[in-house]
Amino acid sequence: MSFADLGLSPKLLEAIAAAGYENPTPIQKEAIPPALKGQDVLGIAQTGTGKTASFTLPMIERLSKGRARARMPRSLVLAPTRELAAQVAENFEKYGANHKLSMALLIGGVSFGDQDAKLTRGVDVLIATPGRLLDHFERGRLLLTGIEVMVVDEADRMLDMGFIPDIEKIFKLTPMTRQTLFFSATMPPEIQRITDQFLHQPVRVEVSRPATTADTIKQNIVRVPSKDDRQKRAVLRELIGKDDVKNGIIFCNRKSTVDVVAKSLQKHGFNARPIHGDLAQSFRTETLDKFRSDDLQFLVASDVAARGLDIPAVSHVFNFDVPIHSDDYVHRIGRTGRAGRKGAALMLVTPADGKHLDSILKTIGAKEIEELDFSEFFEANPASERPDRKGGRGDDKGGKRRSRRGERSSSERSSGERSGRNETKDAKETKEPANDQPAAEKPVDAEVDNDNAAPANKQPDEGRSSKRRRGGGDARSSRRREEAVVGLGDHVPAFLTRKVAR
Ligand code: AMP
Repeated sequence: MSFADLGLSPKLLEAIAAAGYENPTPIQKEAIPPALKGQDVLGIAQTGTGKTASFTLPMIERLSKGRARARMPRSLVLAPTRELAAQVAENFEKYGANHKLSMALLIGGVSFGDQDAKLTRGVDVLIATPGRLLDHFERGRLLLTGIEVMVVDEADRMLDMGFIPDIEKIFKLTPMTRQTLFFSATMPPEIQRITDQFLHQPVRVEVSRPATTADTIKQNIVRVPSKDDRQKRAVLRELIGKDDVKNGIIFCNRKSTVDVVAKSLQKHGFNARPIHGDLAQSFRTETLDKFRSDDLQFLVASDVAARGLDIPAVSHVFNFDVPIHSDDYVHRIGRTGRAGRKGAALMLVTPADGKHLDSILKTIGAKEIEELDFSEFFEANPASERPDRKGGRGDDKGGKRRSRRGERSSSERSSGERSGRNETKDAKETKEPANDQPAAEKPVDAEVDNDNAAPANKQPDEGRSSKRRRGGGDARSSRRREEAVVGLGDHVPAFLTRKVAR
């Protein structure tokens, strides 16, 4: 079956040919014809299947007739992260090259003023992250009653990030007559509930997940005896320094770890940059561009920032931390070994990671992942007795500062607070670990892109999560609370005891 058989117009076929696509992918074959007819579509597919074109192409076709009115976009695409939203926008530009459609991207890191000016002129396509969209709506800058087509992309990721209440709210702001194209890699009950409520007799299109662990990916683990991140960083350097490592993504569970690892690698002369939701949008875009154009060898990433990104295959994936959710392991290593090419996935496993490793093995249906023998390396590079001081500096004297009792230092707390400052209530309450858990225990899913919080929440160190942490069970902070002096304590300065003359 060719693209022409799907019922797309010559202008679109031209743009598709210019993109270099010869044949539609399975999701495109199944989703485009009903979408062109105006039917709702429930697409169960993940990134890499060509799902973006499967909703972009019919949308362009539909929007080619009619005109946009001021502040009333005609279509809406919701994406969980800035990068995904930007990627969808690129797709619209590519496939809509022969159409005159206006488009606005409502994401964090882009000035409100510019976004507002576009909305005022009227847009055919509005691509947004949920938080930013509601922000504009609540400021009265936007009406959603003109929405003809609404797309929800990566719905299960939105669920992980606690955006489902926002999505429900947005659905209710759009007209019942809209067409809905809804995409999710998995269908947990909460997503099923949303689709039952808001989709009208959708055509269900399911494309099989790429083999969970492609045969082309060679997987290995290295057991790291110490939980000290310095030792993990030393092992990482050893692994990435090998000749066959052309390029790679290094996954960490926390944003603060991403920063430390990237800085440490830079200091050791590696061409590495971090990417996570707290970094400025311009930096994130520049980093991805460099990585795509081979100017950057290593991308140190968090799951949220990397999920769904259209990054060309890499030769290696490194799991600096064992992912908390086994699904993330599959997503992470799926970045290598694509299209029949060989890839390698290496993961550092500390004694504390047993439970998560077991769940990964269960997910990938393996008894074990072959272990690389690093005994000689550890003999030559024993873990330091000293606690990993100077956290956050990214040097190898650095890392996360811990007291001997494993409490988090104030710098680490504030970094955790910063990284979690825009977590939504749902994400925080279900995912946050107790404060005395090791750093690696904090699930990455608690990470939420900054776009999804109102600007008012964007003050560093001011998030709701920071309040929770401060109020939590951290031994040191509770001791501080017990010792806290109320008012002036026992000391009353003399001037206060003097009688006041009337
Ligand atoms: P997506 O799953 O939408 O993120 O797409 C993954 C990648 O597949 C992107 O780089 C697209 O440009 C590419 N792609 C989409 N459709 C096709 C197609 N029909 N043929 C070849 N590549 C495609």
